[in-house]
Amino acid sequence: MTGFDSFAMVDWSSGNDTGPRPRKDAIWACVVRKGEAEEPMYLRNRGIAELWLRNLIETEIAASRRLFLGFDFPFGYPKGFARALTGSDDPLKLWDWFERRTEDSPKANNRFDLAGEINRHFGGKGPFWFNGLQRDIDGLPKNKSDYQNPFPERRAVELMPEAKGSFSCWQMGGAGAVGGQVMMGLPVLARLRHAFAGQISVWPFEALDTPVAFVEIWPSLTLGAAPDGRIKDAWQVEQVAQSLARMQVEELAQHLNVNAAEEGWILGVSQSKPNIAPPPLRNDCFALPAGVNWTPVDDALALLRERLTVVATPERVALSQAAGRILTEDVLANRSNPPQPNTAVDGYGFAGAAQEGAQVMPLYPGRAAAGMPFDGTVPDGHAVRVLTGAALPDGVDTVILEEDVTVQDNHIAFHGPLKQGANTRRAGEDVAEGNLVLPAGRRLTPADLALLSATGIAEIHVRKTLRVAVLSTGDELVEPGETAGPGQIFDANRPMLLSLIDRMGFQPVDLGRVPDDRAALRDRLNNASKQADVILTSGGASAGDEDHVSALLREAGAMQEWRIALKPGRPLALGLWNGTPVFGLPGNPVAAMVCTLIFARPALGLMAGEGWQEPQAFDLPAAFEKRKKAGRREYLRARVRDGRAEVFASEGSGRISGLSWAEGLVEIEDGARHIKPGDMVRFIPYGSFGL
Ligand code: AMP
Ligand code: MG
Repeated sequence: MTGFDSFAMVDWSSGNDTGPRPRKDAIWACVVRKGEAEEPMYLRNRGIAELWLRNLIETEIAASRRLFLGFDFPFGYPKGFARALTGSDDPLKLWDWFERRTEDSPKANNRFDLAGEINRHFGGKGPFWFNGLQRDIDGLPKNKSDYQNPFPERRAVELMPEAKGSFSCWQMGGAGAVGGQVMMGLPVLARLRHAFAGQISVWPFEALDTPVAFVEIWPSLTLGAAPDGRIKDAWQVEQVAQSLARMQVEELAQHLNVNAAEEGWILGVSQSKPNIAPPPLRNDCFALPAGVNWTPVDDALALLRERLTVVATPERVALSQAAGRILTEDVLANRSNPPQPNTAVDGYGFAGAAQEGAQVMPLYPGRAAAGMPFDGTVPDGHAVRVLTGAALPDGVDTVILEEDVTVQDNHIAFHGPLKQGANTRRAGEDVAEGNLVLPAGRRLTPADLALLSATGIAEIHVRKTLRVAVLSTGDELVEPGETAGPGQIFDANRPMLLSLIDRMGFQPVDLGRVPDDRAALRDRLNNASKQADVILTSGGASAGDEDHVSALLREAGAMQEWRIALKPGRPLALGLWNGTPVFGLPGNPVAAMVCTLIFARPALGLMAGEGWQEPQAFDLPAAFEKRKKAGRREYLRARVRDGRAEVFASEGSGRISGLSWAEGLVEIEDGARHIKPGDMVRFIPYGSFGL
């Protein structure tokens, strides 16, 4: 569970109250809720910060928002320290140990004395050093000349190249030191943990399965200098909270995936691990609730939607390769569109507005054209020639259309009035720099490519196209073009399914045909699971003697027979083969196509990363009559003529001609119905399925 609704980042401080006016080196925090950043909060001392944190946690829990809370100080000490003080390696026990011993008020705290006391316990020369007070403290060295540390100088994470520049938590003071922050920070976190017992988990010591997560993050490791005029700490917490909020769930999950049980870790610093991934789907992902006989279509869809996750891997591609691909992250405009104010027409530009009545203006030499800006400033009261798309010259904010102008003797004349800004386009009036252009999960259309290009995007993060293998099963099948003996039929499903997969935006992988032979089918599935992300089979999905798809999947221990209350469609066999999801479709071509459109398409979309796609339907008057009993949903092959939905004369599930005749499906709800001509019915055009 790594999806969060709110992200907050806190920049801690070990010093005393920093006064009423916002300033640097104080405690700062910033919250981003549902993508919206709040103004950074100035928290003048730790007491106020603790209250603010309590409030934040309470608010988010009450609103059922999952909160990710980052702090910029170590959550643990180098190896061995926790055990030496508390008798346990559990860093959270150390948090409580400090909580019991620290004294903190806005004007003073006991961090140097406590450091000295701990040092005396270890012989009085370390591990802590640096005394920020005027008086001597027994056991606390002022500098490192007579210093001895019984523990490692640094945590493992601080030795990683990405954490270069981090400070040791033994150093209690001096510019940039964190020793005091840890000592005065952990007690606050410990109190919050107890106040919200069971609601907060601490990374990476605990599984993040509660409403609130505490995470160690050091903004200074990744961020440079703040922009002019901004307080560094305020700017940093805002940047970190925003970039966390923008991060894809799986990227965040990847960052959170570290093992550091005792010392803790810094989020964003990578832990070297071989490049392997667990199976994307759980073995029980197709399990149905016990005792259900015929599952209603909506329940079956809801189950697929809940259980399946994205399996397509991300990659970065050039825009020219991106058509039809699915974005893994929100794309923000690199540049405004239009980038600068420009003219929407061919005409003459000047500083507007123009008054009522005849206007005569001297023409200024030169012109502005698209891509060839006018160099200089147009004096007030003068007009200059401008062509569509040209950047407005300095001194011009209004344009008169060339058709409305008389040009003579180096002057133009036209009828006013004309509003200031007429016939011009404002910079960023379409999209402003930094604005969201397209959201994660978007499948890129030709128009999207225009939008991305215009806003300066040349490369994007997308997913590899989901590979969907198609396999036909049945002893009776022969390839079109071969001779068909008695009892044999041509394989009609495979060309249809391969083409459906292609049209729906996935990558078809042709696995051919296999006879009703378990060993052959097993081989083919083994092969398929290496070449594809998902496998579609047709035929052999029921529970009969020759239904080897269901038998094999059952044997593999990961098969479910989905008896769905729908016509046309017999049981679907859903399962995993070597971790690859298999959709065992019915053999009848009509049922195979309907099940693909209704069940496989949204499921494939989810696995491909485009989210769950509902087909758009239209209510239309029926051109037919039909009676239907309650208990299952029906899909009729249909098309629209003269604004009315016609259905194919026969509902037989072997009637392939009807599939081809149809241009969509009429969906009739689960309950009983008597449809008469002119009654409204729900029509889903094939186009709504992406075909
Ligand atoms: P099954 O699900 O294997 O019992 O098949 C149900 C019906 O669909 C049978 O009449 C099969 O012959 C037919 N069928 C199965 N696969 C195909 C296919 N690829 N093309 C055309 N018909 C098929
Ligand atoms: Mg069969």
